[in-house]
Amino acid sequence: MKEITQSLRLSPSEIPNRIYGVENWAGGYFGVSEQGSLTVHPTRNPLMGVEVISLVQTLLQRRVAPPFLLRFPQILDTQIKELHEAFRNSIAEYNYGARHRGVYPMKVNQKRSVVERLMAAGHRYEYGLEVGTKAELAAALTLTIHPNALLICNGVKDRRYLEWAMLSKKIGKNPVLVMEEVSDLNKISEVSTALGIHPNLGIRVRVFSRGAGKWEESGGETSKFGINTIQLLDCLRLAADQGLARYLKMLHFHIGSQITDIRRIKNAIKEAARVYAKVYKMGFPTEYLNVGGGLGVDYDGSRTASDCSVNYSMQEFANDIVYTINEICQSENVPPPTIVTESGRAVAAHHAIFITNVIRTLNPGLGGSEINPSKVDSEVVREMMDIHKDINPKNFREYYHDALQHREELQSLFNLGYLNLQNRAQGEWLFWQICRKAIKFSRSMKERPEEFIDLENILASKYICNFSVFQSAPDSWALDQLFPIVPITRLTEEPTERATLCDITCDSDGQIDKFVDLRDVKQALELHGVNSEPYYLAIFLVGAYQESLGMNHNLLGSANEAHFLVDDSGRPHIDKVIRGESLGQVLASAGYTSQDLMESFRRMGQNAEAQLKISAEDREAFCESYRSALESYTYLED
Ligand SMILES: *Cc1c(COP(=O)(O)O)cnc(C)c1O
Repeated sequence: MKEITQSLRLSPSEIPNRIYGVENWAGGYFGVSEQGSLTVHPTRNPLMGVEVISLVQTLLQRRVAPPFLLRFPQILDTQIKELHEAFRNSIAEYNYGARHRGVYPMKVNQKRSVVERLMAAGHRYEYGLEVGTKAELAAALTLTIHPNALLICNGVKDRRYLEWAMLSKKIGKNPVLVMEEVSDLNKISEVSTALGIHPNLGIRVRVFSRGAGKWEESGGETSKFGINTIQLLDCLRLAADQGLARYLKMLHFHIGSQITDIRRIKNAIKEAARVYAKVYKMGFPTEYLNVGGGLGVDYDGSRTASDCSVNYSMQEFANDIVYTINEICQSENVPPPTIVTESGRAVAAHHAIFITNVIRTLNPGLGGSEINPSKVDSEVVREMMDIHKDINPKNFREYYHDALQHREELQSLFNLGYLNLQNRAQGEWLFWQICRKAIKFSRSMKERPEEFIDLENILASKYICNFSVFQSAPDSWALDQLFPIVPITRLTEEPTERATLCDITCDSDGQIDKFVDLRDVKQALELHGVNSEPYYLAIFLVGAYQESLGMNHNLLGSANEAHFLVDDSGRPHIDKVIRGESLGQVLASAGYTSQDLMESFRRMGQNAEAQLKISAEDREAFCESYRSALESYTYLED
């Protein structure tokens, strides 16, 4: 499809940004070298970058096969610093009379290496943890966090959860048990009396102001979580009755994740700060105002309030929160609370990149060759040949419609038995050629008709990639979330193809057909023709939620993982390689233990051998291949 190339007329250095928007969503962490290779800058120093392709080559040399998840722990450090410095700046700017404390919500990415790195990077800010389940708490209890850091215990809790949360005080943690419903108070009171431990308590309060976009359901009046104003009063009364009022230290609000519009945040904070002030004045000296998560990531780089973007920066987020709380506390004449934030997405999204290799490309109607007119013995094919020859910028709409009709005719004649397979193939080949010409001519129209835009999308190539959407970018499937996707090389070469990406699951949903675009959403991604060289695509901003939500659909397991650090001279170092799941591991998770599999397999082979269906030698070879494959990667290896 040479025509795209001509109509774009971009200079090589414009390609990365104009086509892929790299600098819009890169957040300073990603770039493109003069040679057209994608680079990563984990400390945001433009001079300290490494080429992704060289990291891939390093892994290949170590016999680690694609697809890979590449982690850049220094990006986590940089994000943590930015978040805390943003709040420090705002606090200084508005003369805010209390502190900010961040906690990391574990559900965003529970991987040990990620959480440990975050805790280390956040140590000097007394960065803490937020957990929502017993399992997350079990992990959190063992992690080293600053002695002053908070351990916020959210979620629905049973007795054991409550016990562990309270006992964590005895091993040096600062738990805050956040109640999600009024009845939690009775349970807490029982466990607390039994253990003789008085933990700090919080109340998760529902806000009227909702988030917006794909994730809005978790906030708002009808949200699954939190208690409303009527219950809040009940809860406060009950706490006072049970002598627990002085342990009530936190009011917690969370309006949802990926809040795209800063106004929603301001409105929710106004409401939350008022609730805090009123509760304080009722004689409950709560110390912490926890504003939850919601700080969004600009996945498409558009800086708008569209679903996959945000119309504000981290600093603006901090400013609005600090300013609003300050104003309201002053007007209500209550002391300013310590502001707690639980931002996870914004902290973790950038640090991981997923790399997949293109296995092959499919193109509707490509292949086949020019038709020799003397070999055509069908009237309808001959008519299509005429259209193909005579279609031009003036008549293309009409001729295209004629071609559609001929194609239908071709199909019915074939079904009735009047055409042979050669006739049919010739007709189809001509039809796709006519479509391509029509698309080309339609590009010069001022108002391009919808049908040609659709046609162009139908004619997009399919690039089959070695990965599973369900495992590695599940939100792309579940929420139609956009992730930036870019080839890691050839970025100064004009792309000649438009493609959608298909994974190797057998699920028709296993594909990506929406791509980031500055103005809109692209239905196809501009890519290069694949030659004999491997062609790798990087999916960006997958560090938040994608790993914990990823699933082994079709028994494709987790991907090979590598952690890279970049030193002061800009050289990359592999910090760690973690092998992806093997066939044996994913099979075991579905109930087929390797031992059972091997025993059954051997038995079947022996039976077959006894019945003389297979030779002893072949049986042994098959058995050995089966055994060794249980340790191998679930993705395509060649
Ligand atoms: C999920 C969640 C968060 C994290 O939200 P982000 O938008 O990812 O920052 C914070 N707090 C609570 C209570 C949550 O459930």
